[in-house]
Amino acid sequence: MLEVDGLRTGYRGRPAVFDASLSVAEGEIVALVGHNGAGKTTTLKSVVGLLPAWQGGVRFREEDISRSRAADNVRRGLCFLPEDDFVFTDLTVEDNLTLARFGVGSQGRASRDADAVRAEIFEVLPVLRERSKQRAGTLSGGERRMLSIGMALAAEPRMLLVDEPSLGLAPVLVERVMDLLAELVRRKGLSVLMVEQNVDQALRIADRCYVMRAGRIVMEESAARLAARDQWWDLF
Ligand code: ATP
Repeated sequence: MLEVDGLRTGYRGRPAVFDASLSVAEGEIVALVGHNGAGKTTTLKSVVGLLPAWQGGVRFREEDISRSRAADNVRRGLCFLPEDDFVFTDLTVEDNLTLARFGVGSQGRASRDADAVRAEIFEVLPVLRERSKQRAGTLSGGERRMLSIGMALAAEPRMLLVDEPSLGLAPVLVERVMDLLAELVRRKGLSVLMVEQNVDQALRIADRCYVMRAGRIVMEESAARLAARDQWWDLF
C-alpha cells in the first residue's frame, strides 16, 4: 500500500529525517515510535505531501507520489490525521462531516449522498450521531478526536496516517480510540501508519513497529515480538 524509500527531509535547510525507509501493507497497522524530536511527525508530514521530500521516494498503491500535494493525496485515498484535531469549532458535528466530504459551501445542504456518507460514519462512530447537532467547539476532547477521525473517514480513505491518536485523552478513551482504529482496519480494510508515544497501546493493535531515533529508523520488529521483549524502551 505504502512504500517509503530513503526519505530525507527537514526544515529551512536543516535535515530532521535522514534516509528513512518503511512500508505498510494493505490492511496492516504499523506503529512508528521513538523519543520526542526523533522525526516521526516530520516523516508523516512528508509522506502525505505537507513537507517536500529532499531525497528518496514515496509510493502509494504503486504510484509515485514523492512530489504530490497533500490535497491530491487525499483524493488518492491517503489521509493525514494531525495530533491537534482540526475541526471547524463554529459548525455542528454534522456540518463538519459534510464539509470534510464535499468542501466549503456544502454544509447545511441536504443531499442523499451526504446523508449516506454520514450514516456510514455514524455506524462506526455512534457518539457522533448523538452529537450531530452540537457545535464542534463544545465537544469534549474524546468526542473531538472521534469527530476528527470521522472527518478523515468522510474522504473514504484507503490509508490513514495518524499522529498521536492518544494525545491528551484519558486512558479509557485511549483504549477506545485504538480499538476504533483496529475496527476500521477490520471492517473497511484500511491501512494505518500511526505515530504514538503510548507504545503499550500502539503495540496492542499494531502488526509491526518501526523505532526512530535522531531522524533515522533504527529498528523494525513485529509488534508481538517487541511487546514480548524485556525493557524494550532501552531501544529508544
Ligand atoms: P514528538 O514525539 O515530540 O512529536 P517527533 O518524533 O514527531 O517528536 P518531529 O516533530 O518530527 O519529532 O521533529 C523532528 C525535529 O524537527 C525536531 O528536532 C524538531 O525540533 C524539528 N522540527 C519540527 N517541526 C519543525 C518546524 N516547523 N520548523 C523547524 N524545525 C522543526
